[in-house]
Amino acid sequence: MIITCWGARGSIPVSGKEYMKYGGDTTCLEIRSAAGDLVVVDCGSGVRRLGNRLVDEQIRRFTILFTHSHWDHILGFPFLKPIYDSKTAIDFHGCPFAQKSIQTVIAKIMEPPQFPVNLGAIRAKLTFNDPCLQGFKIGSLNVTPIVLSHPNQGLGYKFQENGSAFVFLTDNELRYRHPGGCTHEQYTAFCSDVDVLIHDAEFTDEDYRRTRTWGHSTYPQAVELALASKVKRFGLFHHNQDRPDVQVDAMVADCARLAAEQGSALDCFGVTQDTVIKI
Ligand SMILES: [Zn+2]
Ligand SMILES: [Zn+2]
Repeated sequence: MIITCWGARGSIPVSGKEYMKYGGDTTCLEIRSAAGDLVVVDCGSGVRRLGNRLVDEQIRRFTILFTHSHWDHILGFPFLKPIYDSKTAIDFHGCPFAQKSIQTVIAKIMEPPQFPVNLGAIRAKLTFNDPCLQGFKIGSLNVTPIVLSHPNQGLGYKFQENGSAFVFLTDNELRYRHPGGCTHEQYTAFCSDVDVLIHDAEFTDEDYRRTRTWGHSTYPQAVELALASKVKRFGLFHHNQDRPDVQVDAMVADCARLAAEQGSALDCFGVTQDTVIKI
């Protein structure tokens, strides 16, 4: 499985020389299975570049999963070029978020007066499947969802193939249980022994004094989960819009220090919008 990140920023796209390393685009991941199945997770602003790559590679069949329908995770959808090509076929999977189906969420993004082109301009064949928490297969990938602890809820995902496992939990507040969210023990069990965990690590302890209940974790909370779950690699994700590269670097270094204090050689890294991971 190859995991490529196209956007690692939280909340709003940013630009400027202080963001060059981790990037300014919001959440978008691409997962390619060994058999060549292609899954897009979230359509934040990063999906624009991914869409252009798919056009270049002439990839016309893929799956889109959403973690939730907060703006920073859906705003790139109208800029995903393959949706305007009648040769494209896209499968969607998703639980209803905040009482809205995936179909409704997508229609809303392109609804007047928010956007000049409406849903009718989409030429791709869109298929909506709604298996929810029971898990499902996408080609050779086994996909297991878990409910996030986040305002308006959302889903995290585990992808497994040929004995390798990757977990993606963004917008997940580990030390405050939002309605419908899981316990710390459940998240620990879900991530147990996976090869790579990418987790929301937006805040510092200092931020958290005023951001508790906003739906995001601190990096020490996320590293605590990574250590308890004995994951091999841990990626910090959903970088705050006001966090320049040097400060994310400092958080990554501190994660390694926190792990070493526990006698762990956990590989901590900050996910950038060009990170590629092979497992
Ligand atoms: Zn977000
Ligand atoms: Zn969110």
